[in-house]
Formats: sequence, C-alpha cells, structure tokens
Amino acid sequence: MNIHEYQTKELLKNYDVTVPAGRVAHTISHAGSVAEDIGGSRWVVKAQIHAGGRGKGGGIKLADSIEEVQKLSDQMIGSRLVTHQTDNTGHLVQRVLVEQAFNIEKEFYLGLIINRSSQRITLIASSSGGMDIEEVARETPEKVIKEIVDPAVGLHEFQCRKVCARIGLVDKHMQAGVKLMKRFYRCFRDKDALLAEINPLALVEGDRLVALDAKMTFDDNALFRHPDITDLRDFDEEDSKEIEASGHGLNYIALDGNVGCIVNGAGLAMATMDSIALHGGRPANFLDVGGGASPEKIANAFRIVLEDPSVKGILLNIFAGINRCDWIANGIVQAIRDQEIRVPVVVRLAGTNVEQGWVILEESGLEYIKATKLDTAAKKIIEVINEKEQ
Ligand code: GDP
Ligand code: MN
Repeated sequence: MNIHEYQTKELLKNYDVTVPAGRVAHTISHAGSVAEDIGGSRWVVKAQIHAGGRGKGGGIKLADSIEEVQKLSDQMIGSRLVTHQTDNTGHLVQRVLVEQAFNIEKEFYLGLIINRSSQRITLIASSSGGMDIEEVARETPEKVIKEIVDPAVGLHEFQCRKVCARIGLVDKHMQAGVKLMKRFYRCFRDKDALLAEINPLALVEGDRLVALDAKMTFDDNALFRHPDITDLRDFDEEDSKEIEASGHGLNYIALDGNVGCIVNGAGLAMATMDSIALHGGRPANFLDVGGGASPEKIANAFRIVLEDPSVKGILLNIFAGINRCDWIANGIVQAIRDQEIRVPVVVRLAGTNVEQGWVILEESGLEYIKATKLDTAAKKIIEVINEKEQ
C-alpha cells in the first residue's frame, strides 16, 4: 500500500525527522490560510498523488505570495497530473501540500528497501539526490552507496557514519545525518515498510538537514497490525476493479493488454500470463480466483474482468487438484448464465473429474472454445482476438 507525501511526512515527524512546516489543503482558500499560518514569504505548493516525477511534470511550484499560493492551488486541484511514472491520462489531484520553502544548498538521496537477494533491509544513499536520481543510478551507479542492515542488531551507528562520509555529510553535518538515518530506519522497521525514500534530503540555509520529499510503501500482509497506516489508504489512487476484487476474496491486478485471464492459483496465473506473452499476446490482468473457486467467485471474476473495456477475449484456465472440474464447470455455467459475455471465451480444464466437467459445459449450450493444454489455450485466445480485430 502506498500513501501520500504529506502522510509520510507526518509519520517521519513523529520519529523526529525534520520536515518543512506545512499542511495539506483540499480547497483554494484553505491553501491560502495554510500559507498564512506557516508565515514567511515563500512557499511550495505540491500536488499530492501516488506517483513521483511531479517536479518535472509541473506538480511542484514555488510561490512568493499568498495570492500565488492560491493561484497555483487553483491550477492544480481538480487537474490531472501526468508524470513519467503515471500513464498518459495521469492522476486526479484532489489536494495539495502547502509548505514553507527553503533555499537548498545541496540535495541528497536517502532510501530504505528490502533487498530480496540478501533478504535484508538496505540503506541506499547518494550525494546526487533530487529529480534525476534514476539517471544517476543508471549512468553512474558508483555514486549510489548501499549498506546492508543485519536484522538482529539493526542499523549501526558506524554504518550511518560510513554512509554519511561517502555522500559528503561530513564535519558538523555528520551527526545530524547519522541521527536522521537512524530515525528513518526505526520508522521503516516499526511500520513494516517495503520501501521508503527521502528525495531530496536537503541541506538548507542554517546548516539544517530537512526531508523535502518523502515516500513510503507498506507491506499489505502486515497491515493487520498497523491500523494507523491502514487508515491512510486513499482508494481514489487505486484501481476500482482491484478494490472490488479484494472485497470478493479475489486477487486481481490490472495490466495493460487485452486478454482477460481467470485462473485458479497464483502460480498457474503467472504461467498463463507467460504463455500468452510467449504467443505474442498481452494479458489484461492477473486474476487468481483461489483454491475453492465457488460459482459466486467465478461469477464475480467474469464481471470484474469484463468491466475492463480493453478486454477482447477471456482465457479461463483451471487446474483442479483439490478442486473438481465438475464443480468448476457448474460454477462457470451458473456464473455466466446471468451475464452478457460479449467476447470469445477459451476454457482450459485439467485435473480431477475433467471428463464430467466438459460434459457439463457441453450440455449447458454455452458458447466457448475448448482447450486441453495451456499452450493451445493461449494460442487460441490470441488467434480469435486477432481474427475479430481485423
Ligand atoms: P518529485 O518530483 O515528485 O520527486 O517531487 P519533490 O517533492 O522531490 O520536488 C521536486 C523538486 O522540487 C525537488 O527536487 C526540489 O529541487 C524542489 N523543491 C521541493 N521543495 C523545495 C523548496 O522548499 N525549495 C526549493 N527551492 N525547491 C524545492
Ligand atoms: Mn522527490
């Protein structure tokens, strides 16, 4: 689960990481009063969406007066912000963060991730922070410093000092850097995060280290023990079909192809997507209906997949181990009896009671294309979609 920048900053503030004075605003007049409350003579207006690259996309603007804060908020709130991290329709901006602006002397990058190969939290830092960090990582990877954390002892002081030295947080800045890294790590651990970034971490006038931008992603499987984090979920930033699917116990992830997939088991779903790709097609989604695929679940799966207008055909791939194909077939028949299926459907059944399964489908009068092997099923659905498209 992702959260907004202003929410991440609130969290970090609770861990004594310095963030700019600021508050979120949903309306133009509120944005103006936030700026007045903060005081000073310069502010930053920041569009709050779950995507990075806002600076380059026009979602981060400096203002020199309250009127300008309001004008910029007016432009941002209600508009759709497109960045290199969004698709070309962008995200709807529903709120802005209004903050005091700083004169930046230097920008650093600071990140924490779970490194899957070492299976450990890794601190990542660079002296070349700011908006071009992806380019830095690609072209000058030696400028990206990594420090692996031993889970038994946590992030050591000496590790922080080493990282500070390598990114140039030295002399009077080192102590502040070390403190900040330790606090950042503690927040990450306490909240079961998967990823956290402070970019830029800025050295500003008065020799202070301030987190000017912050982003955090949490482990969905650990949310049950963090009701405070769960409350921060912004459903508007998520795919509505994914939210609906999770309510029905289905594991659905929207993708950008045109072959709708309904599969039992995550591994088989991955294999199905691979087969589709191998034969030149592109899956429109990942959908795992799970082990006990009841008629209701299959019905919901069809409905959710068909809600996606880019779906031009459906591949239903069931391997019955503990399940039985005759139950599944009954489920399919019930599921689509009440729905208008406007696209071709390829069904592949295998496993326990497969013969009975086919008999049920045949007798139902349902229009479908039969396949017994995954490979042929993938080929067939792509063929029929291509024929229809021509
Ligand atoms: P992102 O592009 O989505 O990562 O948004 P950021 O919050 O990182 O903002 C982009 C850039 O705006 C930063 O890298 C900074 O250079 C700049 N920026 C953000 N806050 C301030 C500020 O208070 N003062 C100044 N001068 N620049 C800022
Ligand atoms: Mn940033």
